[in-house]
Amino acid sequence: MTSNSTSRWNSYHKPETVEEALELLRRYDGSARVIGGGTDILVEARRGLRRSIDAIVDATGIAGLDAISHDKDHIVIGCGVTHTQIVSDERIIRYGACLAESCGVIGGPQVRNTGTLAGNVAHALPAGDGTIGLLALGGEVEIASTTGTRWMPAKDTFVGPGKSVIDRHREVLTRLRFKPAGTREGSAFHRVMRPQGLCLPIISMAARLEVDGDIITAASISMGPVGPVPWFAEPVATVLVGGSTSTEQYEKAVELALDSVTLRSSKYRATSEYRATMIRTYLPIILARAAERAGANQ
Ligand SMILES: Cc1cc2nc3c(=O)[nH]c(=O)nc-3n(C[C@H](O)[C@H](O)[C@H](O)COP(=O)(O)OP(=O)(O)OC[C@H]3O[C@@H](n4cnc5c(N)ncnc54)[C@H](O)[C@@H]3O)c2cc1C
Repeated sequence: MTSNSTSRWNSYHKPETVEEALELLRRYDGSARVIGGGTDILVEARRGLRRSIDAIVDATGIAGLDAISHDKDHIVIGCGVTHTQIVSDERIIRYGACLAESCGVIGGPQVRNTGTLAGNVAHALPAGDGTIGLLALGGEVEIASTTGTRWMPAKDTFVGPGKSVIDRHREVLTRLRFKPAGTREGSAFHRVMRPQGLCLPIISMAARLEVDGDIITAASISMGPVGPVPWFAEPVATVLVGGSTSTEQYEKAVELALDSVTLRSSKYRATSEYRATMIRTYLPIILARAAERAGANQ
């Protein structure tokens, strides 16, 4: 346990089991906060952007949750896994390329060495990069509480900007998982952002396609920030299915995406017109890249 004059918390705990973590959260009765790498929450706490936290429960020391594994149906990522681990994992590069690409653009090496995918998803920002990558893969999260453990689609955890169904004072996001790309599937991610100044994305997007020859047989697309939560663009993906891997088909997806969202102008990001142009430019590119990767796997 530690405390110091600049900290906004009194106690720090690093449990080694999920049960120990949950017991600590139960004991603090809502005044403790689960953290991963702390690259979001501790920065906010030190800036005084958070109500004071009595105790921190660091989930990165839980045994077995600091690794990536591959079971029969899924690639499973523990909550202690950092972006650096994801970016360099051969299975994720091969079977979930858009996730490796999305985690690869997060911050700089120090942030990627410390920050976790679990923290990115639990933080619930509309444009969390790893989150956008995971959504296109149909990712799921496991949430542990004193009443039990449940898996749910990651897309259903977002309630609003920074708001999640995961109670980060009482529950632990323990693992994340996705089904590895099959032989006819491929994925891709792209982020547009200012090359300097504040690291705010102008638009990020990811796509996963399954193809049979040049016909798209399944698709999923995610995007952010285009609203209060990361967008799982189901209607946009649906319009692609049954069509060919062609520019004309990708244009249909672009039009539907632009009709479905209200892009805000922001002095920190860009004008809505510019952001729309970026969707027009890059959505076809990542769709073509995902299709190419899917074709290469056949
Ligand atoms: C300089 C800098 C640059 C950055 N650049 C980017 C960027 O380019 N793209 C991007 O997406 N993000 C960026 N970030 C934000 C941050 O690094 C990422 O979102 C990172 O993935 C957060 O992970 P973490 O483990 O550090 O989360 P933490 O800060 O530990 O936690 C974040 C939130 O998730 C909760 N939480 C964490 N782990 C769990 C868990 N296991 N169970 C339940 N709740 C949990 C915490 O309570 C908190 O609400 C940047 C941050 C910094 C400081």
